[in-house]
Amino acid sequence: MDLTAQLRSTIRDIPDFPKPGIVFKDITPVLADGRLFRSVTDRFAAELEGLGVTKIVGIDARGFIFAGAVASQLGLGFIPIRKKGKLPWTTRSTAYKLEYGESVVEVHVDAVEKGEKVALIDDVLATGGTAAAAVHLLEECGAVVVRAEFLMELGFLSGREKLGATPVVSLVIY
Ligand code: AMP
Repeated sequence: MDLTAQLRSTIRDIPDFPKPGIVFKDITPVLADGRLFRSVTDRFAAELEGLGVTKIVGIDARGFIFAGAVASQLGLGFIPIRKKGKLPWTTRSTAYKLEYGESVVEVHVDAVEKGEKVALIDDVLATGGTAAAAVHLLEECGAVVVRAEFLMELGFLSGREKLGATPVVSLVIY
């Protein structure tokens, strides 16, 4: 079975979580399978080859799991983008709409150097609001977001369109 097929058969659908009408894509069975987890981070790492990426950015909270592992595998720095009020130093912030609600994300103002090439990693690309907010924050800090990588993309929500010029890599598209 290829990686996409393995992911399709392992990701678990939880209907009506956290709200009625939302089908929550549960990635914990992927994380619990050590070989599959490693295959995911290997693929994320391979997709970044030759791009000159110097930092990996993860989105609070499930994005941290994959982004942290990829950063460590590649020997690169890791940058957290967090929900409001969690980062201790001076931050930039952006408010955005979620598939189910609203949120604010923040990054430390000195997280990246001007012109630094970074890759963004998260578990799910849904409406694209979170990823677009993250790209916006990083660009405000002077970074160039050369790839946005997702374990899965909910294609019917067209989140990719919100990412404009940022190339998107998704391992499974629903
Ligand atoms: P969005 O801003 O709509 O692209 O939402 C992306 C964020 O919300 C990601 O960080 C996901 O972790 C989470 N998310 C949104 N929709 C779902 C879903 N159906 N299942 C699991 N996580 C989701």
